[in-house]
Amino acid sequence: MTTMTTGVGRGGPDAEWPASLDVPALRAAGWRPSPFREFVLKVHARCDLACDYCYVFAMADQGWRDRPAQMPREVVDAAAARIGEHVRAHGLDAVRLVLHGGEPLLADTALLARAVRAVRAAAGGAAVEVAVQTNGTRLDEERLAALAGLDVRVGVSLDGDAAAQDRHRRLAGGRGSHARVAAGLGRLTAPRFRHLFAGLLCTIDLRNDPVATYEALLAFAPPRMDFLLPHGTWDAPPPGRDPAAAGTPYAGWLLRIFDAWYPAGGVEIRLFAEILQLLLGGRASSELLGVAPIGVAVVETDGSIEHSDLLKAVSATAPATGLHVARDSFDAVLAMPMTVARQLGVDGLCDRCRACRWARVCGGGLYAHRYRSGTGYLNPSVYCPDLLALIDGIHARVAPDLAFLRRESG
Ligand code: SF4
Ligand code: SF4
Repeated sequence: MTTMTTGVGRGGPDAEWPASLDVPALRAAGWRPSPFREFVLKVHARCDLACDYCYVFAMADQGWRDRPAQMPREVVDAAAARIGEHVRAHGLDAVRLVLHGGEPLLADTALLARAVRAVRAAAGGAAVEVAVQTNGTRLDEERLAALAGLDVRVGVSLDGDAAAQDRHRRLAGGRGSHARVAAGLGRLTAPRFRHLFAGLLCTIDLRNDPVATYEALLAFAPPRMDFLLPHGTWDAPPPGRDPAAAGTPYAGWLLRIFDAWYPAGGVEIRLFAEILQLLLGGRASSELLGVAPIGVAVVETDGSIEHSDLLKAVSATAPATGLHVARDSFDAVLAMPMTVARQLGVDGLCDRCRACRWARVCGGGLYAHRYRSGTGYLNPSVYCPDLLALIDGIHARVAPDLAFLRRESG
């Protein structure tokens, strides 16, 4: 039997948090933390691909080396119990469970089934939507049938056509993964399993033609797609985003897709849908944009609880909480400075972002992308010029439609 180990870690130093982070004063003023509604279980900590931009294996946090490859059953059960505890403590009527990795489909099907059933049972009457985010190399009939039996939606990472995919997303021996992933997508999109298809995630490479990339994804008729900015910080800028240079290459790349997508509609593109939603005064449903409180907690294969996975791009300690499902509740994570800072809305942003015309839409961008040594997360995103140009560009294109919708809604 595998025994659970308890992870260690730390929160960020005080210099990284906004001046408004005086939790007793905030509580006295009526502020309350917002519960987690999405739980990411790292059911497997290894991968059969070796993507060169991977934030799990190729960036600052190399903690995966010390963790069990597969989440032990007792960790699964403890995580499920903690999720149930959180659901009851906050009276939640619905939560989301994401089976993640590494590559989650390297985990035994029995382990995946145990995780899904344990969380649904622990959540009692609350609805539990379950998704797996996979690299798509292992989508065979047997696994798909198992996922269908568990009612698990399947999101697949795909960077575009064969040239785009195989430049970064390679098998350990160096061979490209496109052919294998396309075959898996063929099985997933066949009538028997098509209802499981949640969508495609594409990491942007400026060398790829944006419209050709969009069309390569559209060929699989996904219900949803999303384009991810490559990860980076002010200390380690992403490719093509020289903080000292003018230019907005990522905004230009994305706006070419927007111009192809907006008149035709059809597939949902999450990044664009969220910007439109925020421009209309709504709130975002992910941590990419906006100022909604962070609502995601992560459990690693060894049972340690972490902040958002994307902080792995910052440093080995950035995602760590020092908490563990065997002894700590998710409420303990809600009380940590990192979480509180990410639940303060505009008050949690740096001065420049607070003064920005798009503060409530952009929200400083993805938390990890704000990081700079010395000032921590109290910076605009390293993508700031691109985010500004992207939101400006979308706003200019849809302004007449937004004005119409506002009139219609009241
Ligand atoms: S498939 Fe995902 S986890 Fe695996 S190497 Fe690529 S980015 Fe990393
Ligand atoms: S566009 Fe730049 S300044 Fe404005 S909120 Fe985003 S990161 Fe901050």
